[in-house]
Amino acid sequence: MKTIGLIGGMSWESSLEYYRITNETVKERLGGLHSAECVMYSVDFAAMEILQRQGRWQEAAQHLIGVAQNVEKAGANFVVLCTNTMHKVADDIQANITIPLLHIADATAQRVSATGIKTIGLLGTRFTMEEDFYKGRLSHSYGLKVIVPDDDERKIVHRVIYDELVLGNIRPESRAHYARIMERLVQSGAEGIILGCTEIGLLVHDEDSRVPLFDTTRIHAVAAVEYALA
Ligand code: GLU
Repeated sequence: MKTIGLIGGMSWESSLEYYRITNETVKERLGGLHSAECVMYSVDFAAMEILQRQGRWQEAAQHLIGVAQNVEKAGANFVVLCTNTMHKVADDIQANITIPLLHIADATAQRVSATGIKTIGLLGTRFTMEEDFYKGRLSHSYGLKVIVPDDDERKIVHRVIYDELVLGNIRPESRAHYARIMERLVQSGAEGIILGCTEIGLLVHDEDSRVPLFDTTRIHAVAAVEYALA
């Protein structure tokens, strides 16, 4: 089994899920007392959030490069960056380590494509919903048509992530907002919806949508186990 290098803390609420799912999946696949070989470096999210909000992506990249190098030194055979948003700097990280980084958008797009779905809704932070580093990868590399909520809805989705979910605050009224926004995506043609922020799976579940949900946390964590066991 390869050693998984988890870069977490963004937020730690979702890193817990990565840790749980990787261990549960190894146990499911190997049975008995098996659990995941892994190291985790968890950052202080307050510092990362300021860099994001102020658009200081180069500084964020530098910080995460240092973290990834430490994860490599700690014995990881590959890196799993436990956030969609910070994949904005995934190429910078990959260029500065000698082990592979398992990209969350690749793992997700492969799962979506395997179902035959071609038009997919995307929820996430405004960076993930609006910028090309994520949407572009889904469409250019996998031929998916990506639909995002309108401007007002994107503000709600983003606000709920930063004001509630990363703090572990799960509110039924926010779930209702998300359900309404997902329904609008379906009416616009989405055949499935990517929960493209690693905390959204804490709020929204299959019963909140009439199309399949693709939870990037679960997909990425399971892909990490499959890679570790391959
Ligand atoms: N965890 C979230 C994501 O998957 C947002 C927080 C962050 O910026 O990492 O995008």
